[in-house]
Amino acid sequence: RENMGAIENCGFYDTGIRERMVRQKELENHFEEAVSQRQFEVYYQPKYDVKGGRFYGAEALVRWNSPVEGMIPPGVLVPVFESNSMIIRLDEYIFEQVCRQIRQWLDRGFAVQPVSVNISRLHLYQKGFVERYLDLIRRWHVPPGLVELELTETVMFDNEELLGETLQGFRREGVPILMDDFGSGYSSIQLLRSMPIDNLKIDKGLVDDSTERPKLQKILASVIGLAQSLNIQVTAEGVETKDQYDLLKRMNVDYIQGYYCAKPMPCGEYEKLVYENTGGREVF
Ligand code: C2E
Ligand code: MG
Ligand code: MG
Ligand code: MG
Repeated sequence: RENMGAIENCGFYDTGIRERMVRQKELENHFEEAVSQRQFEVYYQPKYDVKGGRFYGAEALVRWNSPVEGMIPPGVLVPVFESNSMIIRLDEYIFEQVCRQIRQWLDRGFAVQPVSVNISRLHLYQKGFVERYLDLIRRWHVPPGLVELELTETVMFDNEELLGETLQGFRREGVPILMDDFGSGYSSIQLLRSMPIDNLKIDKGLVDDSTERPKLQKILASVIGLAQSLNIQVTAEGVETKDQYDLLKRMNVDYIQGYYCAKPMPCGEYEKLVYENTGGREVF
């Protein structure tokens, strides 16, 4: 009898777990459905090569066109998918879409430029993460360097040893690593030195008020100088005005990504902009 009581009491927890599992299952079914119905779309935001005076490369950003909820932006989608680990599958799916797209551009004879893909910090703890991604690159015959990985700076603090091994695994195969959102949290200068990072993306938060705040300009200038002295290129994110653009250009930033240059756009529009129109002429 005592046992029965204990089991009944546990029933409360059982329902909770059951509900969670059902909910998880629902989301998983949703995900399969969304994939098979092509509801996830990759948008491309062009990056501008300041010294070269032309667009060069892009960041892939997911969009979910849900028939029920409408267009769900990544700011909403990513945190939900991170809380139930679905982000692992979403990121891998987006990564493969990008590999496939690069393959298609190559087959069409374009001089293909790199595309960077966002990778959730949860990947770090997935067994076989590096091999799975390298397999996709090989399967689609993507030459090294054309697909890049963006990891946010917050990932970098979790487990330095694991992170170092992971990044080296990609570096050995020629996959460039970009550190995303630098300056949004407790940025570590030490990590710039110890990790194999190819490109540092300065967070929009540092760019936003830069034109009005001399102190911020000093910080920006020294971060840019420091990164470049370590052979790390620098991209400024979220540049919206000509003043910001001019300031960052004076500071010798390598790439600019922001609405001032171009917004994220569907693949077809990106192709027109980069592979059919500009022909190397200076835009800004
Ligand atoms: P992020 O990786 O830092 O990407 C840049 C974000 O800033 C994008 O937002 C882009 O549209 C936006 N942005 C670019 N220039 C400007 C500008 O001048 N002004 C303003 N206001 N915004 C600008 P988006 O597409 O909404 O993505 C938000 C975040 O969601 C991304 O930030 C990234 O952390 C995450 N994300 C997007 N796609 C994926 C994905 O496939 N996987 C994962 N794990 N995360 C993703
Ligand atoms: Mg990013
Ligand atoms: Mg960013
Ligand atoms: Mg960001």
